Amino acid sequence: MKKSVNLAMVSNTAFEAGKAENLSQYDISNALQTTLEFNELISIFCSRIESMIPHSGYVYSNREFSLEIKNGVFTKHAYSHAFKIEQQPLGELKLMRNHQFTEAEIELLETLLRYLIYPLKNATLFHRALRMAYMDPLTQTHNRASFNDTINREIRLAIRQAKNLAIIFLDIDHFKTINDDYGHDCGDIMLASVAAWIKDSLRSSDLIFRYGGEEFVILLSDTDLAYAELLAEKIRAAIERRTMTYDMNTLRMTASLGVNALRADDTFESFIKRADAAMYQAKKNGRNRVIAAR
Ligand code: GH3
Ligand code: MG
Ligand code: MG
Repeated sequence: MKKSVNLAMVSNTAFEAGKAENLSQYDISNALQTTLEFNELISIFCSRIESMIPHSGYVYSNREFSLEIKNGVFTKHAYSHAFKIEQQPLGELKLMRNHQFTEAEIELLETLLRYLIYPLKNATLFHRALRMAYMDPLTQTHNRASFNDTINREIRLAIRQAKNLAIIFLDIDHFKTINDDYGHDCGDIMLASVAAWIKDSLRSSDLIFRYGGEEFVILLSDTDLAYAELLAEKIRAAIERRTMTYDMNTLRMTASLGVNALRADDTFESFIKRADAAMYQAKKNGRNRVIAAR
């Protein structure tokens, strides 16, 4: 009699444990459907599995989006998993702790990691779509829509934090003659080259936008007028120095640049207007030069 009670208790405990695990997996799956942000997905996942697989830190890296999300304490024992679906890499997650993960933990982890695959795939598709909506495919710079969103945010941030913000307007000189003399394809290649040359001169925090056909805008956070002017001169000199070969022709370009720094009473319009006016002044004064708004 006593034996059968014990047996019943044992089987009941086993059932409850399995049920709890199924429930928590269901719970993880649901939680992962609440966001399309990589950092949130990884944070949700790692906190939900913490009770089943204790760990002290994690790193998620994703080369396509240049991401490295780190949290917690890094130790010598780690378990790494590279996510892949239909030959598409979706990043790599490394879990860390002071002592080794057991085989049973790794087996459970491998089951749980499957719950991340489709949320990571959806996040990838979402961020690719965002990138397409905000990038100019020809020059691989941010587009005008991105500029409009970014500049308002940067102005608000600079004013709130009492920080500098500078802007450079750049317009390629006599670009129409490139199209007229060598064709539109050559013009396209030239535009992409100029964008790449500008990027070479920038810091990672600087943002470059294609503002119009052959016009670029560079937004420099935490930068005063004097430094922005130096940078503009560096960009101007780099464009003047470089050459491009097209159909046995060696082509050169120059550009005119206008520089401006944010003032306390500036609006979006007044901030842009002074940079644009400075650029037009550079054109008027003979092109291939930098003018700063004073
Ligand atoms: P300025 O020195 O006064 O700036 O002269 P400009 O010839 O550069 O200026 P203008 O505004 O007269 O001409 C700009 C040219 O840029 C005209 C347009 O065909 C060309 N353009 C704009 N977008 C593109 C593009 O995506 N590809 C190519 N190939 N050309 C473009
Ligand atoms: Mg122009
Ligand atoms: Mg031009």
